[in-house]
Amino acid sequence: MTKFSDLNLNTKVLKAIDEAGYENPTPIQAGAIPAALEGRDVLGIAQTGTGKTASFTLPLITALARGRARARMPRSLVLCPTRELAAQVAENFDTYAKYVKLSKALLIGGVSFKEQDILIDKGVDVLIATPGRLLDHFERGKLILNDVKVMVVDEADRMLDMGFIPDIERIFGLTPFTRQTLFFSATMAPEIERITNTFLSNPERIEVARQATASETIEQGVVMFKASRKDREGTEKRKVLRGLIDAEGEKLTNAIIFCNRKTDVDIVAKSLKSYKYDAAPIHGDLDQSQRTRTLEGFRNGELRILVASDVAARGLDVPSVSHVFNFDVPGHPEDYVHRIGRTGRAGREGKAITICVPRDEKQFDAVEKLIQKEIPRLDNPVKSAKPAEVKEDKPKSTRSRSSSKSEEKVDSTAASEDTKPSRSRSSSSRSRSSTSRDDRSSNKVVGLGDHTPSFIGLSFEERMAS
Ligand code: AMP
Repeated sequence: MTKFSDLNLNTKVLKAIDEAGYENPTPIQAGAIPAALEGRDVLGIAQTGTGKTASFTLPLITALARGRARARMPRSLVLCPTRELAAQVAENFDTYAKYVKLSKALLIGGVSFKEQDILIDKGVDVLIATPGRLLDHFERGKLILNDVKVMVVDEADRMLDMGFIPDIERIFGLTPFTRQTLFFSATMAPEIERITNTFLSNPERIEVARQATASETIEQGVVMFKASRKDREGTEKRKVLRGLIDAEGEKLTNAIIFCNRKTDVDIVAKSLKSYKYDAAPIHGDLDQSQRTRTLEGFRNGELRILVASDVAARGLDVPSVSHVFNFDVPGHPEDYVHRIGRTGRAGREGKAITICVPRDEKQFDAVEKLIQKEIPRLDNPVKSAKPAEVKEDKPKSTRSRSSSKSEEKVDSTAASEDTKPSRSRSSSSRSRSSTSRDDRSSNKVVGLGDHTPSFIGLSFEERMAS
């Protein structure tokens, strides 16, 4: 087996690797590092969890260890699709370049231009950026890309999903023709193939196995769930989720819960919080400082459950996540692979559980087809959430609210995040949140119709508060 010491890396880099506790290079590292050190272009087909970040940071640090950057002329450029991923690459640099004197700057949105300008003016060896922010700086005349010796494109397939390919092409055009390019993508869509054919020169191509098929350390399961009534699906699904979390007990040290939509990320996080779970949301609409804080908390173990959208979570390196939950079956089967790849990393054990409603069964079939494996069916941990006979015409006003009160109360808070305007009333926000939408639409008091006084639907505490 190849060792890091066989790879011609700078001895100071080797020392930092040793301190990070890594013994042997992963396959993408063993393939990419020697080619990169020879100055060749690299096309790495690998996803997060394979060690691909180090496969470009280690040779980059080695190559840049000699020489100095001039003002406003970075010597290398690393492009990442999201701010979080860029921040993570920057952290990797800090770890591996601990003993090498290199300057770096992180150009991401949500951070003031002024601070970033100061860094660029001083001269940076490594510039880590999202494409939009980089071009903003360029257009303001603050950045010159003529001295870029190495350009890294990370997660190109995600760049494609996010519409960044024209920006990437433009940036390629702004850097010298003689630059070295290290290009990474989890998949090779035709558009990505075209870019690599245009901008890479005779690259060393390294393809590593998909993590979902390679990693046998991830235990997978799915709960096939049908709500008792369509309009209660959200509420009941959240109950199933809590049941699944509870069933894991101590084994669940930390978890990421994926939802397909940002509104659901907010709703699920809020709902869990109301039930005293240590949870927080992360998605692209939250402001940068909040995203950074949440992520830091999750990384350092202060936050136990991260509720996330695919884009926000893509590429995040959070070592040792014990569990992944798919609150929704992802729309693209490849996203399932990315999601569950958050657990069971670098040989650790992990568990990934999906909740699948009848509407998503086709999508779930596509997932099983992609990973060429049948995912074991799990029992629904919530007995009462199983399809129940619903007595639609029974007056609900007489129903005791106490048994299910807390669920509805919490979900009404959570559902108030939902932005569907057609379902909100013109009344005050307090009365809007007084009754859950699920509840309001389905549990109308028969006989009173739309004229039901709103307090009838309130719990005692809610009435006191209103
Ligand atoms: P990445 O694919 O770059 O997101 O890395 C996935 C995880 O593997 C990160 O937590 C890295 O710190 C870790 N890692 C990277 N290289 C190695 C290695 N050679 N041995 C063990 N773990 C590694």
